[in-house]
Order: sequence, then structure tokens, then C-alpha cells
Amino acid sequence: MTAFILDGKKVRAVIQETLTHTISLCEVKPKLVIIHVGDNSESQTYIRQKINFGKTIGAHVELIQISHEKAQQEALIDIIKTCNQDDSIHGIIVQLPLPVSIEKEVILNTISSLKDVDGLTQDNQELLERGSPRFVPATARGIFVLLDAYEISVYKKKVVVIGRSLLVGRPVADLARMRGGEVTVIHSKTENPIPIIHDSDIVIVAAGVRHLVGIESVRSGQVIVDVGIHVEEKDGSRIISGDVDFESVKHAVMAISPVPGGVGVMTVSALFLNLIDAWNIQTQSCNK
Ligand code: NAD
Repeated sequence: MTAFILDGKKVRAVIQETLTHTISLCEVKPKLVIIHVGDNSESQTYIRQKINFGKTIGAHVELIQISHEKAQQEALIDIIKTCNQDDSIHGIIVQLPLPVSIEKEVILNTISSLKDVDGLTQDNQELLERGSPRFVPATARGIFVLLDAYEISVYKKKVVVIGRSLLVGRPVADLARMRGGEVTVIHSKTENPIPIIHDSDIVIVAAGVRHLVGIESVRSGQVIVDVGIHVEEKDGSRIISGDVDFESVKHAVMAISPVPGGVGVMTVSALFLNLIDAWNIQTQSCNK
């Protein structure tokens, strides 16, 4: 039997409709500023997706593009401070990665924590760790929006999170704990992870290792969420795969998110859910 597919595109369509409606009712349109330093092509793809989704739902999205040569830390800080003070801007993100010459933590912590829709300032990370989040990194929020859409609860379930990055693994584990899951985190130094994965009910994989989770790690009845994105060029076409060996695992488990078409598409939608939250905090003037 083939697993039930957790279809991010279907869930995104519902969110898109809701956000479009919400924004259409608002006099002051939510505005996101994306600051991008350099010309990383992967970042450009992600930025395009954000701009297009924002346009579709009626939000304002402004891209501030800074060339690599002109990227001075102090100038970047000044730009962020100006955006912090601008009442027409509700959300600010700095597209990662940044050039190594720039201190990522300094830059991220310059963003006003009320406009930090990527949830990466120290302030917002601490709120999440304490169980009262303001903004949660978009991928982590997107995963739970996807699970909620399919009425999959982590409450009292054994949840394994593979990966503990600040961007994905850690916030996912925090959110799963907040929702009453029994959470185990696996990372690159965890010894003998397969029995732990095998014993769990829900497996969320964000390790950045292509096909890390294969048929040997899973069993029937499990829910598998694949966060990984790996892009390779083959015979002139782009092939995208995940951290899970989808083709073999889909025959063994209860439900699985595909790559592409699963968590990836949820991330952009969740960013705009965060933007709406930021805008609500700042304007409190929407006639929803
Ligand atoms: P990262 O490199 O910052 O962190 C990877 C984590 O996985 C680390 O904590 C590391 O300890 C752990 N890890 C590495 N190898 C492992 C192994 N063999 N076994 C167990 N744990 C291992 O990566 P990240 O930013 O968290 O991203 C992870 C993956 O998710 C990447 O493929 C990335 O492209 C993808 N990603 C997808 C989205 C999306 O929207 N779908 C968003 C962000 C990242």
C-alpha cells in the first residue's frame, strides 16, 4: 500500500485564499522588506517565490538588493534601522546566507523583534524556547500548518526530529514539545539512530543529507515529514529530492510529505502568516 501524501500545494492553496481575503479587507496593506546581499542563485530563487506569493495575496513586498562589493556591515545595519522605524513596513527579513565578512548574529539582532518575521532574533528564539512564541521560523510553522491540515496531532506521540539547526530542527522540536509531543532530537553525532527513528510515531527530517532516511529506518503507521531539499542537474533538467528516500519509504509508512510539493511550499505561505501576525501586532487596525 502507498502512504497518504501530505500535499503542501493543496494546503498552500487554502492559505492563499484565506490570506488574500484577509488582506483585501485591510486599508493598510501588510508590507514585507527582503534584504539580500550578493547574488547567490538559490537565494534568488527563494526570493522570487516570496515576491510572487506576496503579490498573489495582495501584500506589498520590497526587495532591497545590495551588491557583494558594497556590502558593509555598518551600511546594512543602517538600512535595517531605517526599516525598523518605518511604520509602513511590518516585516523584515535578511535572506541567508550572508557573506562571511558580515556577522550574521549582529545583523539579525538589529531587526526589530516585532518585525522579525523569520523568528531569528535572540529575543524571538528565547520566547519560543520558553513556550510563548511571537514569531516562529517559517519552515517550522509551515510543518505544523501542514500537519494540522491533515489533523495529525503530535500530542502524546513519540516525535523524532532529525537535525537541530536554529532555522529548522530546534524550532520544530520546541513546537512539538509545546504541543505535548514526546520529542527526541537526533543529530550528526547521535549513535545508532535507526532504532530511535523506527520506534517513533512521527519523524521530521531536516538533516540536509540526501536520502538519509530509507526503508530500514521506518515502519508501518508512521508519519514522515521531509524538510530536506537537494537540487541536482541531470541531462539538462533539475531534479529535486529530499532527506527521505521517498520512492521506497512511501510503501512502508502511513503518511509522508513529498519533495518537492511538501514542506518547501509551506515555508513561503508560513512566512506570510507571520507577516500578518506582525502587521496585526503593529497596526491592530484591520477590519477582519
Ligand atoms: P543545517 O546544515 O543547518 O543543519 C543540519 C542539522 O542536521 C544539524 O543539526 C546536524 O547535526 C544534523 N545532521 C547532519 N547530518 C546528520 C546525520 N547524518 N544524521 C543526523 N543528523 C544530521 O541545515 P538546515 O538549515 O537545518 O536544513 C536542513 C535541510 O532542510 C537542508 O536540506 C535544507 O536545504 C532544507 N531546508 C528546507 C527548507 C524548506 O523550506 N523545505 C527550509 C530550510 C532548510
